[in-house]
Amino acid sequence: MKAVVKYGYGPGETELRDVPVPEIGDDDLLIEVKAAGVCGSDIAFDDGGHKEILNPPVVLGHEFSGMVCKVGKNVTKWKVGDRVMSDNTGEVCGECYACNTADFLSCPERKGIGYGMDGGFTNYVKILGKTLARVPHSLMRIPDCMSYEEAAIMDPACNGYMAVVQEAKVMPGDFVAVFGVGALGLFSIQAARAAGAAKIIAIALSSDGDGRFGMAELCGATHIIKSDLEDPVARVREITRGEGCSCVVDAAGVNVIMPQMLGIVRTAGIIVKIGYDHHPYGRSLDPFIDGAIALKGHFGYDWVSWRNVANLVEAGKFDLKCMISHRMKVSEFREAFDMVRRKESIKIILYPDEI
Ligand SMILES: [Zn+2]
Ligand SMILES: [Zn+2]
Repeated sequence: MKAVVKYGYGPGETELRDVPVPEIGDDDLLIEVKAAGVCGSDIAFDDGGHKEILNPPVVLGHEFSGMVCKVGKNVTKWKVGDRVMSDNTGEVCGECYACNTADFLSCPERKGIGYGMDGGFTNYVKILGKTLARVPHSLMRIPDCMSYEEAAIMDPACNGYMAVVQEAKVMPGDFVAVFGVGALGLFSIQAARAAGAAKIIAIALSSDGDGRFGMAELCGATHIIKSDLEDPVARVREITRGEGCSCVVDAAGVNVIMPQMLGIVRTAGIIVKIGYDHHPYGRSLDPFIDGAIALKGHFGYDWVSWRNVANLVEAGKFDLKCMISHRMKVSEFREAFDMVRRKESIKIILYPDEI
């Protein structure tokens, strides 16, 4: 089968290869991939980033959905034909603090399917039975209302939901600001809308393009600020009558916006950081003390996020479909990655090539 293989740690060391269909053991499942989402992290992997979680050679693709097509002889919970989506937990230690408190995404030993283990930019993915025993909800049934391609992008949707609802605890009537209008920013905006935020302010660079700003409005943004053309701190102060926002989400992943975030978060507010940037911050942390401001690093989601987002999709209050901008083949991954780099897409779905 054709697969997008990251074969080394270096930049660009990614290519389409013919690989064998995985063999499964008595407790394992084989999933026939139906759709897989291209994530910003895939571009980071391709560029030589996130080395600490990458395990080359490995098939990329951590946002995928599919159908169970083969089960080991000990498997009772799943059957051939089940429509499933994965939270891409491939392996966890089962013994650390995170695992013992069911926070499996924070397990230091965690291997993600699609970077630590073979993932979904291909035709078939193996799911280990020992992982399903430890983390039963790492594989979930797709609700009837949801298509395979919608299920494939539940990962970033749940990430945005958890940031806004579970971490920042946004209440109806709150003011929320989101930096970045890529997929995570847009899903954070949708989550703020679902939570009942009164004003949702999307902040990004004008180079993000009108398409993405239009999407931000479609997702629920009440105000748009192009931060290279106007001062976001002054504008947010104006929009919120001087109060600031109870929740500021960093889905942009550039540490230079920290002073801006501190300028627009209200006293006792929270900054939730989703976006990665390895550059040092290099400033005083005193504003966090003066304003009683919380900074929360956030990665991923939990079972509650997946359950609640699925319920919101079913209720028509969360839109996955509108986020899918392009559909391509796994063999066209290069072109897809470059489109993400040029910010031409929101979410690209890759479909497996014929075997
Ligand atoms: Zn991702
Ligand atoms: Zn662990």
